[in-house]
Parts: sequence; structure tokens; C-alpha cells
Amino acid sequence: MIEAAETAAEAGANACAHCGIVYQSEADDALKSPWVGCAAKKCSYWIHACCGNIFYRDDDAGFKALGRWASEHFFCKRHMPK
Ligand SMILES: [Zn+2]
Ligand SMILES: [Zn+2]
Repeated sequence: MIEAAETAAEAGANACAHCGIVYQSEADDALKSPWVGCAAKKCSYWIHACCGNIFYRDDDAGFKALGRWASEHFFCKRHMPK
């Protein structure tokens, strides 16, 4: 199952690896969740913050802080620091 999600992401579908909703699609708009990506270089793992059970302050400052945090500290299972 995880492999299928990764294949979709590699094909450039920009889909959430958890729920499969495509980035900036109607369903994505309705969800209103920011996205977080794996901090490993060249990794195309992206999920909604809500799909990763990541909680954040729901305003611009919160989104920015979430993005900053994710760019250094969020990893997919494959790149999880040991
Ligand atoms: Zn999702
Ligand atoms: Zn990764």
C-alpha cells in the first residue's frame, strides 16, 4: 500500500501519501489542511498535517512555524533518523 502511494508521488501526482487527495484539488481545498513534506532531500513524501496527526496553530504564524518545523524535523518512515 505504501509502495503504491510512493509510485503516485513519483509520477508527479502530488497526492497525500496518507489519504491520496491530490494537492490543490477540490477535495484538498475542502480539507483546508496545510501540507508537510519529508525533510530528506529529494524525497517526494507529502501528507496533510491533519493526516499525520500534526497539530498546529491555525493562522499565518502557525502555518509558517509548521513549515519551518517540517523542513527540518518531519520525516517519512523511510527517512526517519535512527
Ligand atoms: Zn491527506
Ligand atoms: Zn522521506
